[in-house]
Amino acid sequence: MVDGMKGRVQQIFPLHITQNIMVIPLSQTQQEDLRIWMFDSKGKYLVRDGYKVALGFFDPPATSSEHQSRGWWQFLWSLNIPPKVRIFWWRVLHDIIPTSKNLLSHHVPVAGTCPLCCSSCDSTTHALFFCVVVKSCWKDTRFWVILKQMRHLEIFDIFLWMKDTLSRLDFEVFVMRSWATWCERLCVVHKSKGFSAVLNVDWSESLLGDFRSAWLALKFCNEGEDCKSADKWIAPPINCLRIDVDAAYNENQQLCLW
Ligand SMILES: [Zn+2]
Repeated sequence: MVDGMKGRVQQIFPLHITQNIMVIPLSQTQQEDLRIWMFDSKGKYLVRDGYKVALGFFDPPATSSEHQSRGWWQFLWSLNIPPKVRIFWWRVLHDIIPTSKNLLSHHVPVAGTCPLCCSSCDSTTHALFFCVVVKSCWKDTRFWVILKQMRHLEIFDIFLWMKDTLSRLDFEVFVMRSWATWCERLCVVHKSKGFSAVLNVDWSESLLGDFRSAWLALKFCNEGEDCKSADKWIAPPINCLRIDVDAAYNENQQLCLW
């Protein structure tokens, strides 16, 4: 290192840091110095990303932070909800569900507006919570008091906030209802169906109730209790084919979908 530079480093940093800086090998090629943010593939720093690092969303090199980061995913994976809802939320937290905003950012030729309310900002948080049409799923619930304070936040921040504010059981209801809201939106977009907040709420909560009952039945079964109430998989006879499908039954409407 040039002597002048060495003097400046010594003025700024304490001795032990100066010694570490002095042993960094210098590049043999002439290049401008750059500031590079290690958590972005292009090296660009964004305040949003810095916040996520501080919360442990990215995997920084320090062991403790890495452990903290895994904790969020372990929490999501430990929820007692259907696996497809966990996977949906994994996609939500990576902000890769096909909202108009995400599709446009991947150069998919779409209108770029929300298919429900025609807003020009069809982000993930808009699609799940703040669209004027889907808001009817949330407005009369205990979740809305918290959600309405978080309009300006990113989806991951909302996830963390809800996780820290709600009980575990309430949080499971929240993630189920978010998923059902997205399913209802897909029906509107692809089947030209009207959006029904009431059906959405009933469906998500009865599905969660059924899932918890089935999970408990299987748990008792695995612990050696009576297995009659659990739907155990049985191999078909030889030369027969068994096809399992995902189905749902609405008792009130006498409606079965698969
Ligand atoms: Zn909308």
